[in-house]
Amino acid sequence: MPKKSGSGISRRDFIKTTGAGALTAGLGPFFLFPERAQVVGEAAVQELKKQLRGELLRPGDGGYDAARRVWNGMVDKRPALIVRCAGVADVINSVNFARTNNLLVSVRGGGHNVAGNAVCDGGIMIDLSRMKSIRVDPVSRAARAEPGLTWGEFDRETQAFGLATTGGICSETGVAGVTLGGGFGWLMRKHGLALDNLVSVDVVSADGQLRKASSTENADLFFGIRGAHSNFGVVTSLEYRLHPVGPTVLAGMVLHPLEKAREALKFYREYNSKTPDEMSAWAALLTSPDGHSMVAILTCYTGPIEAGEKVVRPLKEFGPPVADVIQPMPYVKSQSLIDESFPRGRCNSWKSNLLRELSDDAIDRLVEGFRGVTSPYSSVLIEQLGGAVSRISKDETAFNHRGSPYDLVIMAMWSDPAESEKHIRWADELWRAMQPFSSGGVYVNYLGNEGEGRVKAAYGTNYERLVSLKNKYDPMNLFRFNQNIRPTVRKSS
Ligand SMILES: Cc1cc2nc3c(=O)[nH]c(=O)nc-3n(C[C@H](O)[C@H](O)[C@H](O)COP(=O)(O)OP(=O)(O)OC[C@H]3O[C@@H](n4cnc5c(N)ncnc54)[C@H](O)[C@@H]3O)c2cc1C
Repeated sequence: MPKKSGSGISRRDFIKTTGAGALTAGLGPFFLFPERAQVVGEAAVQELKKQLRGELLRPGDGGYDAARRVWNGMVDKRPALIVRCAGVADVINSVNFARTNNLLVSVRGGGHNVAGNAVCDGGIMIDLSRMKSIRVDPVSRAARAEPGLTWGEFDRETQAFGLATTGGICSETGVAGVTLGGGFGWLMRKHGLALDNLVSVDVVSADGQLRKASSTENADLFFGIRGAHSNFGVVTSLEYRLHPVGPTVLAGMVLHPLEKAREALKFYREYNSKTPDEMSAWAALLTSPDGHSMVAILTCYTGPIEAGEKVVRPLKEFGPPVADVIQPMPYVKSQSLIDESFPRGRCNSWKSNLLRELSDDAIDRLVEGFRGVTSPYSSVLIEQLGGAVSRISKDETAFNHRGSPYDLVIMAMWSDPAESEKHIRWADELWRAMQPFSSGGVYVNYLGNEGEGRVKAAYGTNYERLVSLKNKYDPMNLFRFNQNIRPTVRKSS
């Protein structure tokens, strides 16, 4: 058992921290050898505590167990220290403490990443979830947000002024993690990904320095940070461009039985080839609450409602659907329609890839694969990209998948951990069957712990440029507990 609060970092935590366990996998020459690292003593921990405005939690402290939990119930990790940051100074102190004491670092935003990289075993978790301030400037149409906000919180504030920016479609995901990996959402075909709407960020780098990154300041860092999560540091502020949206949009879904899935998905593909950028349509294979296998087409039209009624009419007429709940609703509500289907704490394993095309063969394989689904909570999602996402150059940001028309996510979700193997196998097998249709690329925000090859696939032709940046900003690979871009030079700090 780890030692209790007040006793420094335990030997067990220390060994894990320094890479003696599974965490060393993939770290190459950069993990810290136990014999070279120092044990963090009680005096150092107390010193850190004195420097903090926020809370410091250790195993055994009240609130520790709640703070270490993330959305994916499969993730059960125990950091030696959790710093619940109250502001930038706490982040700087935590980064300096981790570097000085050779501690593994994880960074937590909204805690929704399926890989669970927000929380580490044995190291220090820099928890930003309490940093939730936001300032919206309706005149310049910009918002400056702290990284602990969720999209539900962000949208509420910007919608008070009839404004929004592209964000995740589940209200509980974190603005930081979603944006720093890409940011797919209803507005992306009109306004680009969430990260395309970043004007600047503040980031605490591995050397403990706060840097601003924008197109005119530290532009190289700004390129990398837009897609590379915590690889270049801890982002403490995100400045977004906003757009007039809603407040009423036309959103919801139509449902068809799985027997009609082939026709419905072919219709979906043809339909998407004709719609304007204001319209986004995602398709899902899922099981309804009363146990029926269905195909759903989820939509959001963000232009004027009257024009939208014409755009959505074919969706409402095709079939006809067994259920049609596409209707005018507040934009904030459209951003939380799937919340209930993704409750916190269930077990999750996702596999994903960008698709080259949604061909008839791809549709056949998906539908066939879904027939073998092993859990009523599991689903398959096809996200429509294109529009503004594809008009931005591949080398403008670290996000590299501008040309793919669709993203595919196979989401195994279940409640009983004892059943994990069969559900994970279902997702893996379907994912393998879909490989002939993949572009080879993968969206970093949906990656599990899948190894270095898949991280390279996430960054594609941008990977080498990101390695150079890592060599410049984090040569010691302090920020390695993530989808890691491994540096190739090592400088002593
Ligand atoms: C239910 C559900 C719905 C989703 N819907 C969408 C969607 O609509 N669109 C979409 O694009 N994605 C979606 N995702 C995927 C989502 O983008 C990722 O899970 C994202 O990484 C979550 O961000 P977070 O801040 O909540 O998670 P976290 O787990 O806290 O963080 C994710 C990663 O980002 C890093 N990170 C977080 N904050 C910072 C920071 N301030 N500085 C540096 N690094 C940081 C973390 O270290 C971690 O590696 C969804 C996921 C779930 C579970």
